[in-house]
Amino acid sequence: MSAQFPDFRLGKVLATSFTGTLSERRGNAVERIPTPNRLVDWLAVSGLAVESCTTAQLERARELREAIHAAATAAARRDPLPVSAVELINERSAQGRAAAVLTPEGARRWRLGSTSSVEDALGVVAADAISVIAGERDGKLALCSSPTCQAAFFDTSQSRTRKWCDMNTCGNRQKKARFNASKRENPGSAK
Ligand SMILES: [Zn+2]
Repeated sequence: MSAQFPDFRLGKVLATSFTGTLSERRGNAVERIPTPNRLVDWLAVSGLAVESCTTAQLERARELREAIHAAATAAARRDPLPVSAVELINERSAQGRAAAVLTPEGARRWRLGSTSSVEDALGVVAADAISVIAGERDGKLALCSSPTCQAAFFDTSQSRTRKWCDMNTCGNRQKKARFNASKRENPGSAK
């Protein structure tokens, strides 16, 4: 039944993949976790499988998402971090009972608490946001150049000059817009 919902945009960074579940924030916003079950799906594909999710837990997840978005945006702009967002991120981080575990192959996985609750999963997401915003990871927070998006994303490119949160969506749209604009200016040009 998932087919009727918008796809997820999955990046390599948990915290900004999570804020990306609401996209086009400055345009026609697309909510990619519209139902509790869709949050369960997102958590599962993000390596944080939970047993179930209530409407209240979905609300708490979205609160965390918006707090991370606000704090990451401020960090990207080098503005002071919003106090309420920081408090919420810290609270969710403290509420989770997840442990990092090492697989025999040497990969890190998350083991949620005994009830595999949404709170445990959100704790992992909040901790990930903390490490990104605190500048502890190799990369740089930046804002997407698409005017209808402006999502905060984590740029791990070597030159740290990535412009779009997602090449396949925002990047492509911008390229098409430029292409159409140049066609209007030079109607006879093949370029
Ligand atoms: Zn974008």
